[in-house]
Amino acid sequence: MFNKFQEEFDEVYRFRVDVVEVHGDDKKFKVQSMAGRHEEFIVKFNITSKVGGCGCQLYDFMGLPCKHLLTIFQHLFLDEIPSNFIMKRWTKDANKVEVLSSEGFPMHDRHLGADAVRISQMCRLSTQLAYL
Ligand SMILES: [Zn+2]
Repeated sequence: MFNKFQEEFDEVYRFRVDVVEVHGDDKKFKVQSMAGRHEEFIVKFNITSKVGGCGCQLYDFMGLPCKHLLTIFQHLFLDEIPSNFIMKRWTKDANKVEVLSSEGFPMHDRHLGADAVRISQMCRLSTQLAYL
């Protein structure tokens, strides 16, 4: 996945950006290749919420920001990829599961710690009882 992202990133230099429509913070850009294979896509992007999408739909299919979106991020001088374009499945937290309490609420570490102590005490007690 990293290699695919690298490929997209390496092509950013090929594109030219033109603003084609502005409605408040919603902007529509035309991203057009200046070299190599001819490509032209419309990217919609809200500069405040940082939500948007590209006509090539790579992000929709693969969950990976395409070179056109990356071009826009660069054009807007964003120093990082907006979190809306980073799918949880590609993050280091992807395999983290949330432990729910018996009432169905997420349990935080503090509660987990307290539960761990309680379970440990119960185990010790049951072991002691087994030897009586
Ligand atoms: Zn695209």
